[in-house]
Amino acid sequence: MAEYRYELYMADLKRVTAEEAVRRGHALTACVVTFGCQMNARDSEKLLGILLEAGFEESASEEADLVVINTCTVRENANTRLYGHLGHLNSMKREHPDKIIALCGCMMQEADEVEKIRKKYRFVDIVFGTHNLYQFAELLLRRMTGEKRVIEVWEKEREIVEDLPVRREVPWKSGVNIMFGCNNFCSYCIVPYVRGRERSRAPEEILAEVRRLAADGVIEVMLLGQNVNSYGKTLPEPVSFASLLREVCRVPGIERVRFMTSHPKDLSDELIRVMSEEPKVCPHLHLPLQSGSDRILAKMNRHYTKAGYLALVEKIRAAMPDISLTTDIIVGFPGETEEDFEETMDVVRQVGFDSAFTFIYSPRTGTPAAALPDQVPKETVDERFKRLLDLVQKTGGERSGRELGKTLPVLVEGEDEHCPGRVTGRLGNNVMVHFPGDLSLIGTIVPVKLTDYHGFYYIGERI
Ligand code: SAM
Ligand code: SF4
Repeated sequence: MAEYRYELYMADLKRVTAEEAVRRGHALTACVVTFGCQMNARDSEKLLGILLEAGFEESASEEADLVVINTCTVRENANTRLYGHLGHLNSMKREHPDKIIALCGCMMQEADEVEKIRKKYRFVDIVFGTHNLYQFAELLLRRMTGEKRVIEVWEKEREIVEDLPVRREVPWKSGVNIMFGCNNFCSYCIVPYVRGRERSRAPEEILAEVRRLAADGVIEVMLLGQNVNSYGKTLPEPVSFASLLREVCRVPGIERVRFMTSHPKDLSDELIRVMSEEPKVCPHLHLPLQSGSDRILAKMNRHYTKAGYLALVEKIRAAMPDISLTTDIIVGFPGETEEDFEETMDVVRQVGFDSAFTFIYSPRTGTPAAALPDQVPKETVDERFKRLLDLVQKTGGERSGRELGKTLPVLVEGEDEHCPGRVTGRLGNNVMVHFPGDLSLIGTIVPVKLTDYHGFYYIGERI
């Protein structure tokens, strides 16, 4: 158990927040804006948990008394978007000088960006990084008790702090961090630099959290890590991800288990077996390909080949024929030739992913790939990107709709926005289903017969 006790600061923060609310004549409101991946989304739930416990009220509007922006930096456009956003917040703060603006997340782990904010964005009140997120209550307290600006970013990760309060986005599902950081150093990727080295949480901590979530009404959990397949390797008593997954499935009350992300180089036969044996594990696997060219994969430091990836897919499909496969692909990695790109297209054709996130390569300062010669010209990348997108849509379309006529469990998530009297939910493989039903079904799993298919969603009827 870590030594840092956020409760010590929380007691003071609660008092100061209450006093400030009296001074301003209204309860203080807080808006947390999240950019990026599920890790960031989960971190934002912790930030909001801390704020609600301190006495802030949640607000969806950036007019709030406190705005926290949880940043992403995986691609350049994420950084550009932040600076656009800051301009807007600055004008709001000119009208309301009491407004507090805090920045955190991956981009704040980049020293150059923090320097720029320190010098040119002086209206930003608080800056912290991914490693000291759990200090948020302390940093906010310092700002609210007179410190003009609080900028504190740690270069390196320290201990894992358990048991921070969390405000879940929805009551029935939750992300659960099983590990932090990444050791893979794919040559294009900034994550290992901004999220630190890989650290796994102890399995008993994870299971205790899942039990608490189940007791609190959660029926679906998503186990989160940059590469869940290497979970547990560095623990004092090593544990495999597959065995953790099996244990999570044993928790009473949990009905669906998802996980992300799986690196193809570490996906074990044991994991395939557990996935195929445990009915609670959703029939979906996100398996980032990045490129289909062996030459590019080697330059990316991915440690698998096109043939290895295809063989893995075959093994997975042999064990779970109905599984939904999704992927990430990067177009325009330095030195990518037309032949390399065709290898990627070939994998897409052969696998027939259900869907794919396609990204244009974005050079990230400090990563090895950013210093490589032969950056691919923009027109070539744009043209390849379009071809890839067309193919992904075509092959995805060919596989979609295959559940038509079946009766499958659907987790109901809300009212169908376009049709009152209908609700919307998701199949285990994430595909959306709309069917007649009332709002009391939200947050439950019900069997639904899939009667009609409309491109990317089903219409059904409850059985
Ligand atoms: N750890 C996960 C993995 O290995 O799949 C995902 C991490 S990253 C946040 C999500 C995706 O962003 C990656 O799979 C990759 O396709 C993409 N990505 C990362 N760095 C990138 C870059 N420099 N340019 C374009 N896409 C990038
Ligand atoms: Fe980035 Fe590779 Fe780690 Fe994923 S596995 S976070 S792509 S370095």
